[in-house]
Amino acid sequence: MYDYIIVGSGIAGSVVARILAEEGNKKVLVVERRNHIGGNCYDVEDENGILIHLYGPHIFHTGNEEVRAFLSRFTEWYDFGHEVVAKVGDKLIPVPFNLNTLHMVYDEEKANYLEKKLISEYGEGSRVPIMKLRENDDPDVREIAEYVYQNVFLKYTMKQWGQKPEEISPEVTGRVPVVISYDNRYFKDKYQSVPVDGFTPMFEKMLDHPNIDVKLDTEVKDIVEFKDGKIFFEGKEFNNGMIYTGAIDELFDCKYGRLPYRSLDFKFEHYDQDSFQGHSVVNYTVSEDYTRITEFKFLTGQKDTNGTTIVKEYPFAYTGKEGEIPYYAILDEENDKLYNKYKEDAQKFNNFHLLGRLAEYKYYNIDAMCLKAIQLAKDLLK
Ligand code: FAD
Repeated sequence: MYDYIIVGSGIAGSVVARILAEEGNKKVLVVERRNHIGGNCYDVEDENGILIHLYGPHIFHTGNEEVRAFLSRFTEWYDFGHEVVAKVGDKLIPVPFNLNTLHMVYDEEKANYLEKKLISEYGEGSRVPIMKLRENDDPDVREIAEYVYQNVFLKYTMKQWGQKPEEISPEVTGRVPVVISYDNRYFKDKYQSVPVDGFTPMFEKMLDHPNIDVKLDTEVKDIVEFKDGKIFFEGKEFNNGMIYTGAIDELFDCKYGRLPYRSLDFKFEHYDQDSFQGHSVVNYTVSEDYTRITEFKFLTGQKDTNGTTIVKEYPFAYTGKEGEIPYYAILDEENDKLYNKYKEDAQKFNNFHLLGRLAEYKYYNIDAMCLKAIQLAKDLLK
């Protein structure tokens, strides 16, 4: 008999499984409905031998030493400073908007003037929300905020979240930063990397432990029954422990209604040429229906490839139809209430733990998810 059943083999489920198995000597069953482990971090070679991220480009970025050390047991890293550019007109400008961007957008004289002004008012290296720039008395400075709003933020956000301009909260808009430095890196974290051989081998090593069994192609409800606040496994009541990382509304057959999500349609294209765009990620902030194009070889550091593979991301509203994947929880008061109704029901199960982006209806980066999973496993072993 297993000590724990873990639903899902993404970063949440895999990290918990490893610690329970290794540090607690617990027998663990990981149940995964897909035909592979790794959740949305999964990567695989396409038919041209190019390593692609099937569920969207993933970069592991963190400043947390514990998380980095834990994952480093299962992989070496290809470290790089992740940079993103936005296609605005015929230019590719660095985002977030920084001093390099400033010099690409304005003529030299104006850019030098604005640079001095920004540095003296806000300090070199600072990140200034555009709301703050908008409040500046100098119309030239306010113009920067307007440029960023129109060319970097507005249409991209409308595409990503399916919103009209008037639906976008000024609070969110105001937080969009202008970075007063020449640092083009997208994240500020100390570590910005991908596993040197890919995410999937990292997960394979993590789950490779004598106390862990992995059952792929298995929907949890095919082997576990959830009934009247009880869990049944192999015909018997199962009270040992379950960690559930799937969608919480699905667990209860969406009886209170579906939790809303944004989804993404990924369109992969291969080109028999050395490079498609010369950058790992280009955001389309003013044109096109897709939000961004990722060119994988620039993200993974893969050398000597046969051509190049890209992916375009088309956002849409998740409806729950077969084949659709819920990606981004839509966080507002109403959805929070709906989530809490499901959570209350889930709390009726004995020794049952909700963990992960779908079970907690929350956005997590890989590092935050990993840390939360480490903490849960340690709490369970106390
Ligand atoms: P998942 O990875 O979704 O894993 C859940 C697993 O549970 C899945 O494998 C699923 O098949 C399985 N499952 C669900 N229900 C059942 C069931 N009923 N029965 C059996 N199995 C089930 N984070 C970063 O740090 N860097 C990035 O660059 C980054 N890029 C991202 C890009 C996109 C497009 C998105 C959407 C997210 C990105 N993230 C990134 C976030 C990252 O994907 C999440 O932190 C991570 O996937 C969360 O892991 P998880 O285990 O909670 O969920």
